[in-house]
Amino acid sequence: MASATTNYELRCVANGHLNSEEETTTYCTQCDSVLRVYYDEPSDDIQYPLKELKSDPMKTHPSALKKLDRLSETYGADLWAKLEFEHPTGCFKDRGSYIEVQKALELGAEAICLASTGNMAASVAAYACYFKIPCFVFVPEKTTDAKIAQATIYNANIIRIKGDFSTCEALCRKFAKSGNYYLAGDYVFREEGQKSFPYELLEQNGDDFDYIFVPVGCGTNFGAIWKGFTELKESGKISKRPKMIAIQPEQSSPVVEGIFKKEKIIKKQVNTMAQSVAASDPVDFHKVMLGIEESDGSAYTVTEDEILNSLKEMAVEEGHFTEPACALPLAAFKNNIDTFKDKKCLFILTGSGLKDTKVVAKHSLSSPVLSPDIDKVTNYIKSGFIEMQKDSWGKSRDTFIANLDMDEDHEKLYNEYVAKINKRGKTLSNNEIEVLQSLIFNEDLDLEYPAEVLDYKVTMRKHGLIKAAVKLDIQGEEVISEAKGVGPIDAILSAIRAETNSVFHLEVKNHEVDILSPDTDSLVVVTLTLANNDQEWVSKGASPDTLEAVIQAFTKGLAIAMKSTVT
Ligand SMILES: *Cc1c(COP(=O)(O)O)cnc(C)c1O
Ligand SMILES: [Zn+2]
Repeated sequence: MASATTNYELRCVANGHLNSEEETTTYCTQCDSVLRVYYDEPSDDIQYPLKELKSDPMKTHPSALKKLDRLSETYGADLWAKLEFEHPTGCFKDRGSYIEVQKALELGAEAICLASTGNMAASVAAYACYFKIPCFVFVPEKTTDAKIAQATIYNANIIRIKGDFSTCEALCRKFAKSGNYYLAGDYVFREEGQKSFPYELLEQNGDDFDYIFVPVGCGTNFGAIWKGFTELKESGKISKRPKMIAIQPEQSSPVVEGIFKKEKIIKKQVNTMAQSVAASDPVDFHKVMLGIEESDGSAYTVTEDEILNSLKEMAVEEGHFTEPACALPLAAFKNNIDTFKDKKCLFILTGSGLKDTKVVAKHSLSSPVLSPDIDKVTNYIKSGFIEMQKDSWGKSRDTFIANLDMDEDHEKLYNEYVAKINKRGKTLSNNEIEVLQSLIFNEDLDLEYPAEVLDYKVTMRKHGLIKAAVKLDIQGEEVISEAKGVGPIDAILSAIRAETNSVFHLEVKNHEVDILSPDTDSLVVVTLTLANNDQEWVSKGASPDTLEAVIQAFTKGLAIAMKSTVT
Protein backbone atom coordinates (compact mmCIF):
# COMPACT_ATOMS: atom_id res chain seq x y z
CA MET A 1 0.00 0.00 0.00
CA ALA A 2 1.06 3.57 -0.63
CA SER A 3 0.10 6.69 1.27
CA ALA A 4 0.29 10.42 0.61
CA THR A 5 1.52 12.63 3.43
CA THR A 6 2.46 16.25 4.09
CA ASN A 7 4.39 15.33 7.23
CA TYR A 8 7.88 15.74 5.88
CA GLU A 9 10.70 18.25 5.54
CA LEU A 10 12.78 19.13 2.51
CA ARG A 11 16.42 19.45 3.56
CA CYS A 12 19.72 19.62 1.70
CA VAL A 13 22.03 16.63 1.97
CA ALA A 14 25.28 18.56 2.54
CA ASN A 15 24.26 20.83 5.45
CA GLY A 16 20.72 19.91 6.43
CA HIS A 17 19.37 23.36 5.49
CA LEU A 18 15.58 23.48 5.55
CA ASN A 19 14.06 24.36 2.15
CA SER A 20 10.54 25.08 0.94
CA GLU A 21 9.24 23.28 -2.11
CA GLU A 22 7.35 26.44 -3.09
CA GLU A 23 10.79 27.99 -3.58
CA THR A 24 12.86 25.10 -4.93
CA THR A 25 12.42 21.51 -6.09
CA THR A 26 15.99 21.12 -7.37
CA TYR A 27 18.90 22.47 -5.28
CA CYS A 28 19.27 24.05 -1.80
CA THR A 29 18.62 27.79 -1.91
CA GLN A 30 21.42 28.36 0.63
CA CYS A 31 24.27 26.06 -0.47
CA ASP A 32 23.23 24.63 -3.86
CA SER A 33 23.55 21.02 -2.69
CA VAL A 34 20.98 18.35 -3.61
CA LEU A 35 17.79 17.96 -1.57
CA ARG A 36 16.15 15.04 0.18
CA VAL A 37 12.72 14.40 1.70
CA TYR A 38 12.75 13.42 5.42
CA TYR A 39 9.50 12.06 6.84
CA ASP A 40 8.40 12.86 10.40
CA GLU A 41 7.47 9.24 11.17
CA PRO A 42 8.39 5.87 9.68
CA SER A 43 5.42 4.10 8.11
CA ASP A 44 4.45 0.57 7.14
CA ASP A 45 3.31 1.88 3.78
CA ILE A 46 5.52 3.57 1.24
CA GLN A 47 5.10 7.31 1.85
CA TYR A 48 4.93 9.83 -0.96
CA PRO A 49 5.35 13.58 -0.33
CA LEU A 50 2.01 14.54 -1.86
CA LYS A 51 -1.30 15.90 -0.55
CA GLU A 52 -3.12 13.35 -2.59
CA LEU A 53 -1.87 10.34 -4.57
CA LYS A 54 -3.43 9.20 -7.82
CA SER A 55 -2.85 5.59 -8.79
CA ASP A 56 -0.30 5.05 -11.57
CA PRO A 57 -2.34 5.41 -14.75
CA MET A 58 -0.03 3.38 -16.97
CA LYS A 59 1.74 0.78 -14.88
CA THR A 60 -0.19 -2.48 -15.04
CA HIS A 61 2.04 -4.81 -13.03
CA PRO A 62 5.21 -4.80 -10.94
CA SER A 63 8.34 -5.34 -13.01
CA ALA A 64 9.19 -9.05 -12.96
CA LEU A 65 11.72 -10.51 -10.54
CA LYS A 66 13.31 -13.38 -12.40
CA LYS A 67 15.82 -16.05 -11.54
CA LEU A 68 18.62 -16.25 -14.11
CA ASP A 69 18.83 -20.03 -14.23
CA ARG A 70 21.50 -20.57 -16.83
CA LEU A 71 23.82 -17.80 -15.64
CA SER A 72 23.45 -19.02 -12.04
CA GLU A 73 24.52 -22.48 -13.12
CA THR A 74 27.39 -21.22 -15.27
CA TYR A 75 28.90 -18.99 -12.59
CA GLY A 76 27.98 -20.79 -9.38
CA ALA A 77 25.94 -18.04 -7.75
CA ASP A 78 22.26 -17.33 -7.11
CA LEU A 79 21.61 -14.76 -9.82
CA TRP A 80 18.38 -12.81 -10.34
CA ALA A 81 17.25 -9.90 -12.47
CA LYS A 82 14.57 -7.29 -11.97
CA LEU A 83 13.21 -6.46 -15.39
CA GLU A 84 12.86 -2.70 -15.05
CA PHE A 85 12.47 -2.38 -18.81
CA GLU A 86 8.92 -3.67 -18.34
CA HIS A 87 7.77 -0.19 -17.34
CA PRO A 88 5.33 1.62 -19.67
CA THR A 89 8.05 3.56 -21.53
CA GLY A 90 10.61 0.73 -21.35
CA CYS A 91 12.65 2.12 -18.45
CA PHE A 92 12.56 2.44 -14.63
CA LYS A 93 12.42 6.24 -14.89
CA ASP A 94 8.62 5.91 -14.97
CA ARG A 95 8.71 5.28 -11.20
CA GLY A 96 10.11 8.79 -10.77
CA SER A 97 8.06 10.56 -13.43
CA TYR A 98 4.85 9.24 -11.87
CA ILE A 99 5.57 11.18 -8.65
CA GLU A 100 7.40 14.13 -10.20
CA VAL A 101 4.52 15.02 -12.52
CA GLN A 102 1.98 14.84 -9.69
CA LYS A 103 4.18 17.20 -7.64
CA ALA A 104 4.29 19.64 -10.57
CA LEU A 105 0.48 19.60 -10.72
CA GLU A 106 0.16 20.04 -6.96
CA LEU A 107 2.46 23.08 -7.06
CA GLY A 108 0.24 24.56 -9.76
CA ALA A 109 2.87 24.57 -12.50
CA GLU A 110 1.60 25.52 -15.95
CA ALA A 111 4.05 23.21 -17.71
CA ILE A 112 6.95 20.84 -17.14
CA CYS A 113 10.31 21.30 -18.81
CA LEU A 114 13.49 19.25 -19.00
CA ALA A 115 16.65 18.77 -21.03
CA SER A 116 17.10 15.17 -22.19
CA THR A 117 17.41 13.18 -25.38
CA GLY A 118 16.76 9.79 -23.94
CA ASN A 119 14.77 7.76 -21.45
CA MET A 120 14.10 10.71 -19.15
CA ALA A 121 12.43 12.69 -21.94
CA ALA A 122 10.28 9.72 -22.99
CA SER A 123 9.19 8.99 -19.44
CA VAL A 124 8.40 12.55 -18.29
CA ALA A 125 6.60 13.24 -21.59
CA ALA A 126 4.44 10.12 -21.16
CA TYR A 127 3.27 10.95 -17.63
CA ALA A 128 2.88 14.68 -18.39
CA CYS A 129 0.76 13.72 -21.38
CA TYR A 130 -1.47 11.41 -19.35
CA PHE A 131 -1.87 13.91 -16.50
CA LYS A 132 -2.55 16.62 -19.10
CA ILE A 133 0.17 19.13 -18.34
CA PRO A 134 2.27 20.51 -21.24
CA CYS A 135 5.84 19.26 -21.46
CA PHE A 136 8.81 21.06 -23.04
CA VAL A 137 11.81 18.95 -23.98
CA PHE A 138 15.08 20.76 -24.79
CA VAL A 139 17.39 18.80 -27.11
CA PRO A 140 20.69 19.59 -28.88
CA GLU A 141 20.50 20.37 -32.61
CA LYS A 142 22.08 17.07 -33.64
CA THR A 143 19.51 14.86 -31.88
CA THR A 144 17.92 12.46 -34.37
CA ASP A 145 14.14 12.26 -34.70
CA ALA A 146 14.35 8.56 -33.83
CA LYS A 147 15.85 9.36 -30.43
CA ILE A 148 12.98 11.64 -29.48
CA ALA A 149 10.24 9.57 -31.13
CA GLN A 150 8.79 8.48 -27.78
CA ALA A 151 8.63 12.03 -26.41
CA THR A 152 7.13 13.17 -29.70
CA ILE A 153 4.30 10.63 -29.72
CA TYR A 154 3.38 11.76 -26.19
CA ASN A 155 2.83 15.30 -27.46
CA ALA A 156 5.97 16.82 -25.93
CA ASN A 157 6.94 20.23 -27.31
CA ILE A 158 10.40 19.59 -28.71
CA ILE A 159 12.70 22.61 -28.46
CA ARG A 160 15.75 22.04 -30.63
CA ILE A 161 18.71 24.21 -29.64
CA LYS A 162 21.86 25.11 -31.51
CA GLY A 163 24.62 23.74 -29.29
CA ASP A 164 25.43 20.73 -27.17
CA PHE A 165 23.66 19.11 -24.26
CA SER A 166 25.01 21.42 -21.54
CA THR A 167 23.81 24.43 -23.54
CA CYS A 168 20.35 22.85 -23.56
CA GLU A 169 20.43 22.20 -19.83
CA ALA A 170 21.43 25.76 -19.00
CA LEU A 171 18.77 27.20 -21.30
CA CYS A 172 16.08 24.88 -19.94
CA ARG A 173 16.92 26.03 -16.38
CA LYS A 174 16.47 29.64 -17.53
CA PHE A 175 13.22 28.71 -19.24
CA ALA A 176 11.93 27.14 -16.02
CA LYS A 177 12.58 30.38 -14.14
CA SER A 178 10.99 32.51 -16.88
CA GLY A 179 7.51 31.29 -15.99
CA ASN A 180 5.60 29.03 -13.66
CA TYR A 181 7.30 25.91 -15.02
CA TYR A 182 8.41 22.80 -13.13
CA LEU A 183 11.96 21.66 -13.96
CA ALA A 184 11.96 17.86 -14.14
CA GLY A 185 15.04 15.65 -13.95
CA ASP A 186 17.30 13.93 -11.45
CA TYR A 187 15.97 15.83 -8.42
CA VAL A 188 14.39 15.14 -5.07
CA PHE A 189 10.82 14.25 -6.12
CA ARG A 190 12.08 11.83 -8.76
CA GLU A 191 14.06 10.14 -5.99
CA GLU A 192 10.83 9.77 -4.01
CA GLY A 193 9.22 7.97 -6.96
CA GLN A 194 12.18 5.73 -7.71
CA LYS A 195 12.51 4.59 -4.10
CA SER A 196 9.50 2.30 -4.76
CA PHE A 197 11.91 -0.28 -6.19
CA PRO A 198 12.79 -2.04 -2.88
CA TYR A 199 9.17 -1.87 -1.68
CA GLU A 200 8.11 -3.73 -4.81
CA LEU A 201 10.97 -6.18 -4.37
CA LEU A 202 9.80 -6.93 -0.84
CA GLU A 203 6.27 -7.69 -2.10
CA GLN A 204 7.89 -10.20 -4.45
CA ASN A 205 9.59 -11.84 -1.46
CA GLY A 206 12.96 -10.53 -2.56
CA ASP A 207 14.07 -9.54 0.94
CA ASP A 208 17.18 -11.69 1.20
CA PHE A 209 19.57 -10.49 -1.47
CA ASP A 210 23.23 -10.22 -0.53
CA TYR A 211 24.04 -7.75 -3.29
CA ILE A 212 22.15 -5.33 -5.55
CA PHE A 213 23.98 -4.34 -8.76
CA VAL A 214 23.00 -0.90 -10.10
CA PRO A 215 24.19 0.74 -13.34
CA VAL A 216 24.97 4.31 -12.33
CA GLY A 217 24.86 7.57 -14.30
CA CYS A 218 23.90 10.57 -12.16
CA GLY A 219 23.42 8.24 -9.19
CA THR A 220 19.79 9.23 -8.62
CA ASN A 221 18.43 5.73 -9.01
CA PHE A 222 21.10 4.22 -6.76
CA GLY A 223 20.38 6.85 -4.09
CA ALA A 224 16.63 6.30 -4.39
CA ILE A 225 16.91 2.53 -4.02
CA TRP A 226 19.10 2.87 -0.94
CA LYS A 227 16.65 5.41 0.54
CA GLY A 228 13.83 2.90 0.03
CA PHE A 229 15.77 0.14 1.81
CA THR A 230 16.58 2.56 4.65
CA GLU A 231 12.93 3.56 5.11
CA LEU A 232 11.90 -0.10 5.09
CA LYS A 233 14.43 -0.83 7.82
CA GLU A 234 13.34 2.15 9.93
CA SER A 235 9.74 1.00 9.76
CA GLY A 236 10.80 -2.47 10.87
CA LYS A 237 9.64 -4.16 7.66
CA ILE A 238 13.10 -5.56 6.99
CA SER A 239 15.91 -6.35 9.40
CA LYS A 240 18.87 -6.33 7.06
CA ARG A 241 19.71 -4.29 3.99
CA PRO A 242 21.68 -5.70 1.02
CA LYS A 243 25.14 -4.51 0.01
CA MET A 244 24.93 -2.00 -2.81
CA ILE A 245 27.18 -2.24 -5.89
CA ALA A 246 27.58 0.79 -8.19
CA ILE A 247 28.90 0.16 -11.70
CA GLN A 248 30.00 2.53 -14.45
CA PRO A 249 31.76 2.19 -17.81
CA GLU A 250 35.51 2.76 -17.53
CA GLN A 251 35.22 5.62 -20.02
CA SER A 252 32.50 7.35 -18.01
CA SER A 253 33.25 6.78 -14.36
CA PRO A 254 33.23 9.98 -12.27
CA VAL A 255 31.16 8.28 -9.55
CA VAL A 256 33.42 5.23 -9.17
CA GLU A 257 36.58 7.37 -9.19
CA GLY A 258 34.95 9.71 -6.70
CA ILE A 259 34.14 6.81 -4.36
CA PHE A 260 37.83 5.90 -4.20
CA LYS A 261 38.96 9.51 -3.76
CA LYS A 262 36.07 10.22 -1.37
CA GLU A 263 35.12 13.42 -3.16
CA LYS A 264 32.87 14.38 -6.05
CA ILE A 265 34.56 14.41 -9.45
CA ILE A 266 33.34 16.14 -12.59
CA LYS A 267 34.70 14.87 -15.89
CA LYS A 268 35.33 17.07 -18.90
CA GLN A 269 34.25 14.38 -21.27
CA VAL A 270 32.64 10.97 -21.08
CA ASN A 271 32.38 8.55 -23.94
CA THR A 272 30.64 5.17 -23.81
CA MET A 273 28.18 3.14 -25.82
CA ALA A 274 26.09 2.93 -22.62
CA GLN A 275 24.57 6.33 -23.30
CA SER A 276 22.08 6.20 -20.41
CA VAL A 277 24.86 6.25 -17.83
CA ALA A 278 27.11 8.76 -19.60
CA ALA A 279 26.96 11.58 -17.04
CA SER A 280 29.99 13.83 -16.63
CA ASP A 281 28.62 15.66 -13.57
CA PRO A 282 26.93 13.05 -11.35
CA VAL A 283 24.57 15.25 -9.29
CA ASP A 284 23.75 12.55 -6.76
CA PHE A 285 27.32 11.43 -6.10
CA HIS A 286 27.02 11.97 -2.35
CA LYS A 287 23.89 9.84 -2.12
CA VAL A 288 25.76 7.01 -3.87
CA MET A 289 28.74 7.35 -1.55
CA LEU A 290 26.45 7.23 1.48
CA GLY A 291 24.73 4.08 0.17
CA ILE A 292 28.03 2.32 -0.43
CA GLU A 293 29.42 3.28 2.99
CA GLU A 294 26.28 2.39 4.93
CA SER A 295 25.77 -0.91 3.13
CA ASP A 296 29.44 -1.90 3.03
CA GLY A 297 29.10 -2.10 -0.74
CA SER A 298 31.55 -1.32 -3.53
CA ALA A 299 32.02 0.33 -6.90
CA TYR A 300 33.42 -1.07 -10.15
CA THR A 301 34.12 -0.05 -13.70
CA VAL A 302 33.85 -2.26 -16.80
CA THR A 303 35.28 -1.84 -20.30
CA GLU A 304 33.36 -1.30 -23.53
CA ASP A 305 34.26 -4.82 -24.71
CA GLU A 306 32.98 -6.28 -21.45
CA ILE A 307 29.73 -4.36 -21.94
CA LEU A 308 29.32 -5.79 -25.44
CA ASN A 309 29.99 -9.34 -24.24
CA SER A 310 27.61 -9.21 -21.30
CA LEU A 311 24.91 -7.54 -23.39
CA LYS A 312 25.09 -10.45 -25.81
CA GLU A 313 25.32 -13.07 -23.07
CA MET A 314 22.17 -11.81 -21.33
CA ALA A 315 20.26 -11.97 -24.63
CA VAL A 316 21.58 -15.34 -25.75
CA GLU A 317 21.51 -17.16 -22.39
CA GLU A 318 18.50 -15.63 -20.66
CA GLY A 319 16.55 -14.06 -23.51
CA HIS A 320 16.67 -10.44 -22.39
CA PHE A 321 17.64 -7.84 -24.95
CA THR A 322 18.50 -4.72 -22.96
CA GLU A 323 20.29 -1.42 -23.47
CA PRO A 324 24.08 -1.46 -23.04
CA ALA A 325 23.77 0.17 -19.57
CA CYS A 326 22.06 -2.99 -18.28
CA ALA A 327 25.10 -5.08 -19.19
CA LEU A 328 27.15 -3.37 -16.47
CA PRO A 329 25.95 -5.62 -13.59
CA LEU A 330 26.76 -8.93 -15.30
CA ALA A 331 30.10 -7.58 -16.54
CA ALA A 332 31.11 -6.41 -13.05
CA PHE A 333 29.93 -9.68 -11.52
CA LYS A 334 32.07 -11.70 -13.93
CA ASN A 335 35.14 -9.57 -13.26
CA ASN A 336 34.85 -10.17 -9.52
CA ILE A 337 33.51 -13.67 -9.39
CA ASP A 338 35.50 -14.63 -6.29
CA THR A 339 33.71 -11.98 -4.26
CA PHE A 340 30.25 -13.04 -5.39
CA LYS A 341 30.56 -16.84 -5.57
CA ASP A 342 27.55 -18.57 -3.92
CA LYS A 343 25.94 -15.20 -3.10
CA LYS A 344 22.39 -14.12 -3.93
CA CYS A 345 22.77 -11.24 -6.39
CA LEU A 346 20.22 -8.99 -8.09
CA PHE A 347 21.01 -7.31 -11.40
CA ILE A 348 18.86 -4.30 -12.25
CA LEU A 349 18.04 -4.35 -15.96
CA THR A 350 17.13 -0.68 -16.27
CA GLY A 351 16.02 -0.24 -19.90
CA SER A 352 14.91 -2.02 -23.07
CA GLY A 353 17.27 -2.90 -25.93
CA LEU A 354 14.71 -1.62 -28.41
CA LYS A 355 15.50 1.91 -27.23
CA ASP A 356 18.71 1.95 -29.22
CA THR A 357 19.06 -0.75 -31.87
CA LYS A 358 21.87 1.26 -33.48
CA VAL A 359 24.30 -0.18 -30.95
CA VAL A 360 23.66 -3.66 -32.31
CA ALA A 361 23.86 -2.55 -35.92
CA LYS A 362 27.12 -0.74 -35.22
CA HIS A 363 28.80 -3.79 -33.69
CA SER A 364 27.55 -6.36 -36.18
CA LEU A 365 28.60 -6.98 -39.74
CA SER A 366 25.62 -6.59 -42.04
CA SER A 367 24.53 -9.53 -44.18
CA PRO A 368 25.24 -9.46 -47.89
CA VAL A 369 22.47 -9.35 -50.49
CA LEU A 370 22.47 -12.60 -52.46
CA SER A 371 20.95 -13.25 -55.87
CA PRO A 372 17.76 -15.32 -55.60
CA ASP A 373 19.63 -18.49 -56.45
CA ILE A 374 19.76 -21.54 -54.21
CA ASP A 375 23.43 -22.24 -55.02
CA LYS A 376 24.36 -18.74 -53.95
CA VAL A 377 22.59 -19.33 -50.63
CA THR A 378 24.29 -22.68 -50.08
CA ASN A 379 27.72 -21.28 -50.95
CA TYR A 380 27.14 -18.36 -48.65
CA ILE A 381 26.27 -20.59 -45.70
CA LYS A 382 29.35 -22.71 -46.41
CA SER A 383 31.66 -19.72 -46.85
CA GLY A 384 32.19 -19.11 -43.14
CA PHE A 385 30.80 -15.60 -43.39
CA ILE A 386 28.05 -16.27 -40.86
CA GLU A 387 30.51 -17.62 -38.29
CA MET A 388 32.74 -14.64 -38.85
CA GLN A 389 29.74 -12.38 -38.40
CA LYS A 390 28.90 -13.96 -35.03
CA ASP A 391 32.51 -14.10 -33.83
CA SER A 392 33.04 -10.49 -34.73
CA TRP A 393 30.75 -9.38 -31.88
CA GLY A 394 32.52 -7.79 -28.94
CA LYS A 395 35.65 -9.79 -28.23
CA SER A 396 36.75 -9.76 -31.79
CA ARG A 397 37.50 -6.07 -31.95
CA ASP A 398 41.19 -6.69 -31.51
CA THR A 399 41.74 -10.44 -31.29
CA PHE A 400 39.94 -11.97 -34.22
CA ILE A 401 41.27 -12.66 -37.68
CA ALA A 402 38.68 -13.44 -40.26
CA ASN A 403 39.27 -16.57 -42.24
CA LEU A 404 36.65 -16.38 -44.88
CA ASP A 405 36.18 -18.78 -47.69
CA MET A 406 35.09 -16.39 -50.41
CA ASP A 407 34.24 -17.48 -53.93
CA GLU A 408 36.93 -16.69 -56.48
CA ASP A 409 35.35 -13.58 -57.92
CA HIS A 410 34.71 -11.95 -54.58
CA GLU A 411 38.22 -12.89 -53.49
CA LYS A 412 39.62 -11.16 -56.55
CA LEU A 413 37.59 -8.06 -55.84
CA TYR A 414 38.72 -8.13 -52.22
CA ASN A 415 42.36 -8.33 -53.28
CA GLU A 416 41.86 -5.35 -55.58
CA TYR A 417 40.51 -3.31 -52.70
CA VAL A 418 43.36 -4.34 -50.40
CA ALA A 419 45.97 -3.58 -53.07
CA LYS A 420 44.54 -0.08 -53.47
CA ILE A 421 44.59 0.46 -49.74
CA ASN A 422 48.12 -0.90 -49.33
CA LYS A 423 49.26 1.46 -52.06
CA ARG A 424 48.37 4.29 -49.72
CA GLY A 425 50.91 2.87 -47.25
CA LYS A 426 48.28 1.43 -44.97
CA THR A 427 47.93 -2.06 -43.53
CA LEU A 428 44.51 -3.16 -42.37
CA SER A 429 43.70 -4.02 -38.76
CA ASN A 430 41.63 -7.14 -38.07
CA ASN A 431 38.54 -5.10 -37.44
CA GLU A 432 39.03 -3.29 -40.74
CA ILE A 433 39.53 -6.59 -42.56
CA GLU A 434 36.21 -7.84 -41.25
CA VAL A 435 34.34 -4.72 -42.24
CA LEU A 436 35.92 -4.71 -45.68
CA GLN A 437 35.13 -8.38 -46.24
CA SER A 438 31.54 -7.78 -45.23
CA LEU A 439 31.34 -4.89 -47.66
CA ILE A 440 32.83 -6.94 -50.51
CA PHE A 441 30.51 -9.82 -49.80
CA ASN A 442 27.64 -7.42 -50.30
CA GLU A 443 28.90 -6.41 -53.68
CA ASP A 444 27.22 -7.37 -56.93
CA LEU A 445 30.01 -8.60 -59.22
CA ASP A 446 28.19 -7.99 -62.49
CA LEU A 447 27.87 -4.24 -62.10
CA GLU A 448 28.64 -2.03 -65.03
CA TYR A 449 30.01 1.33 -64.05
CA PRO A 450 28.61 4.10 -66.27
CA ALA A 451 30.93 6.66 -64.68
CA GLU A 452 34.45 6.50 -63.32
CA VAL A 453 36.38 9.20 -61.48
CA LEU A 454 39.90 9.42 -62.91
CA ASP A 455 41.20 12.26 -60.77
CA TYR A 456 39.96 14.94 -58.41
CA LYS A 457 41.07 17.98 -56.47
CA VAL A 458 39.48 20.01 -53.72
CA THR A 459 40.49 23.53 -52.75
CA MET A 460 39.42 25.68 -49.84
CA ARG A 461 37.85 29.02 -50.81
CA LYS A 462 37.12 32.13 -48.78
CA HIS A 463 34.26 31.95 -46.25
CA GLY A 464 34.69 28.20 -45.83
CA LEU A 465 33.33 27.31 -49.26
CA ILE A 466 35.05 24.36 -50.91
CA LYS A 467 35.65 23.97 -54.63
CA ALA A 468 35.99 20.53 -56.21
CA ALA A 469 37.29 19.68 -59.68
CA VAL A 470 36.73 16.15 -60.97
CA LYS A 471 37.98 14.38 -64.07
CA LEU A 472 35.40 11.80 -65.11
CA ASP A 473 35.08 9.04 -67.64
CA ILE A 474 31.42 8.96 -68.56
CA GLN A 475 30.54 6.09 -70.82
CA GLY A 476 33.95 6.30 -72.51
CA GLU A 477 34.16 10.06 -72.72
CA GLU A 478 36.45 12.20 -70.57
CA VAL A 479 35.00 15.32 -69.00
CA ILE A 480 36.05 17.79 -66.33
CA SER A 481 33.46 19.06 -63.91
CA GLU A 482 33.67 21.71 -61.19
CA ALA A 483 31.36 22.62 -58.32
CA LYS A 484 31.31 24.41 -54.99
CA GLY A 485 29.95 23.09 -51.73
CA VAL A 486 29.76 23.78 -48.01
CA GLY A 487 32.16 20.90 -47.32
CA PRO A 488 34.46 18.66 -49.38
CA ILE A 489 31.95 15.78 -49.54
CA ASP A 490 29.19 18.09 -50.67
CA ALA A 491 31.45 19.74 -53.26
CA ILE A 492 32.77 16.53 -54.77
CA LEU A 493 29.32 14.95 -55.02
CA SER A 494 27.96 18.09 -56.69
CA ALA A 495 30.80 18.05 -59.22
CA ILE A 496 30.20 14.39 -60.10
CA ARG A 497 26.42 14.72 -60.21
CA ALA A 498 26.65 17.77 -62.51
CA GLU A 499 27.80 15.34 -65.22
CA THR A 500 26.12 12.06 -64.25
CA ASN A 501 22.63 13.51 -63.72
CA SER A 502 22.15 13.70 -67.49
CA VAL A 503 22.84 9.95 -67.67
CA PHE A 504 20.76 9.08 -64.60
CA HIS A 505 19.38 11.52 -62.05
CA LEU A 506 20.32 10.75 -58.45
CA GLU A 507 19.65 12.78 -55.30
CA VAL A 508 21.93 12.23 -52.30
CA LYS A 509 19.42 11.78 -49.47
CA ASN A 510 21.93 11.03 -46.75
CA HIS A 511 25.58 10.30 -46.16
CA GLU A 512 27.16 8.62 -43.17
CA VAL A 513 30.88 8.51 -42.48
CA ASP A 514 32.09 5.75 -40.18
CA ILE A 515 35.73 6.01 -39.11
CA LEU A 516 36.72 2.58 -37.86
CA SER A 517 39.59 3.41 -35.51
CA PRO A 518 41.09 6.46 -33.79
CA ASP A 519 44.24 6.20 -35.95
CA THR A 520 44.92 8.86 -38.55
CA ASP A 521 45.01 6.28 -41.33
CA SER A 522 41.84 4.47 -40.25
CA LEU A 523 39.69 2.83 -42.88
CA VAL A 524 36.67 5.03 -43.54
CA VAL A 525 33.36 3.54 -44.60
CA VAL A 526 30.96 5.92 -46.34
CA THR A 527 27.31 4.97 -46.74
CA LEU A 528 25.23 6.96 -49.22
CA THR A 529 21.47 6.86 -49.56
CA LEU A 530 20.63 7.78 -53.14
CA ALA A 531 17.21 8.43 -54.62
CA ASN A 532 15.38 8.94 -57.89
CA ASN A 533 11.70 9.84 -57.44
CA ASP A 534 10.32 7.26 -55.02
CA GLN A 535 13.14 4.76 -55.41
CA GLU A 536 16.07 4.55 -53.00
CA TRP A 537 19.41 2.76 -53.06
CA VAL A 538 22.07 2.39 -50.41
CA SER A 539 25.70 2.11 -51.43
CA LYS A 540 28.98 1.87 -49.54
CA GLY A 541 32.60 2.72 -50.21
CA ALA A 542 35.71 2.04 -48.13
CA SER A 543 39.12 3.69 -48.18
CA PRO A 544 41.60 5.32 -45.80
CA ASP A 545 40.67 8.51 -47.66
CA THR A 546 37.16 9.79 -46.98
CA LEU A 547 36.68 11.41 -50.39
CA GLU A 548 37.90 8.27 -52.13
CA ALA A 549 35.29 6.33 -50.18
CA VAL A 550 32.61 8.87 -51.14
CA ILE A 551 33.52 8.57 -54.82
CA GLN A 552 33.44 4.77 -54.64
CA ALA A 553 30.08 4.78 -52.93
CA PHE A 554 28.56 7.18 -55.44
CA THR A 555 29.84 5.56 -58.64
CA LYS A 556 28.84 2.15 -57.32
CA GLY A 557 25.43 3.52 -56.29
CA LEU A 558 24.93 4.92 -59.77
CA ALA A 559 25.69 1.50 -61.27
CA ILE A 560 23.31 -0.23 -58.86
CA ALA A 561 20.54 2.28 -59.48
CA MET A 562 20.81 2.05 -63.26
CA LYS A 563 20.95 -1.75 -63.22
CA SER A 564 17.85 -2.06 -61.06
CA THR A 565 15.92 0.45 -63.15
CA VAL A 566 16.80 -1.12 -66.52
CA THR A 567 15.57 -4.61 -65.63
C1 LIG B 1 18.83 6.88 -16.37
C2 LIG B 1 19.29 5.51 -16.59
C3 LIG B 1 20.32 4.93 -15.83
C4 LIG B 1 21.11 5.69 -14.79
O1 LIG B 1 20.36 6.18 -13.73
P1 LIG B 1 20.91 7.37 -12.84
O2 LIG B 1 19.78 7.70 -11.94
O3 LIG B 1 21.26 8.52 -13.76
O4 LIG B 1 22.13 6.90 -12.13
C5 LIG B 1 20.66 3.60 -16.08
N1 LIG B 1 20.04 2.88 -17.04
C6 LIG B 1 19.06 3.41 -17.80
C7 LIG B 1 18.44 2.56 -18.84
C8 LIG B 1 18.65 4.74 -17.61
O5 LIG B 1 17.70 5.24 -18.39
ZN1 LIG C 1 22.07 23.58 1.92
